[in-house]
Amino acid sequence: MNWLAPHFHKQNPSSPFRFFRKDRYFIRTPFWFRFIYPYSVWKCNVSRPTVFLTFDDGPHPELTPFVLDELKKYNAKATFFCIGRHVEKHTELFQQIIREGHAVGNHTFHHLNGWKTDTNEYIQDVLEADRFIQSSLFRPPYGRLTLKQLKKIRSGTELLKPMKIIMWSILSGDWDSGISPVTCYKRIATKITSGDIIVFHDSEKARENLVYTLPRILKNLHNQGFAFDKIA
Ligand SMILES: [Zn+2]
Repeated sequence: MNWLAPHFHKQNPSSPFRFFRKDRYFIRTPFWFRFIYPYSVWKCNVSRPTVFLTFDDGPHPELTPFVLDELKKYNAKATFFCIGRHVEKHTELFQQIIREGHAVGNHTFHHLNGWKTDTNEYIQDVLEADRFIQSSLFRPPYGRLTLKQLKKIRSGTELLKPMKIIMWSILSGDWDSGISPVTCYKRIATKITSGDIIVFHDSEKARENLVYTLPRILKNLHNQGFAFDKIA
């Protein structure tokens, strides 16, 4: 899917390029990713067992209400990185996310790929999303951002306030149509530790895996004594 989320090369596990295949991704982010994107948040410091669930690409008219209902069962708080044009379309749903005590973050207006977009155009798109999502949290779509874009978002421009760049430590792979819901759940269930930032998607492509995995992850972690908090 993207090389910033690589996994392993099935055919040739010793290939030096195995981490860079487009359709491979790491479930747990390796430590050296932090050097690719300096000054970004990959994990949170916590004083008691806590995980940080994040939901990208919404709001979605069916999946966002599903996620909100599941979270409510455990009094869980989460962070929603919304796409500006989806917020424009589903304003009431966006307001509901905030009303129910969750955090929201900017995920650009058009879900742009930073590597393929000119810096000014990218910043304009973040600004456009900011008209609908007023947040100091930002997550780049596909995890792709140039250093120039990263610096501008982190330090702000005349028009854009400085934002915290939030990455992740666990990818659920819920968007991956090549895995079954059971695999999606099992792959992450035993890997989650305190302070982890976990990526899910309240979007169509993730529907099947999300609907299966999220309730089980919530139940499993809750039973282990974890709390669920939003990113501040
Ligand atoms: Zn996204």
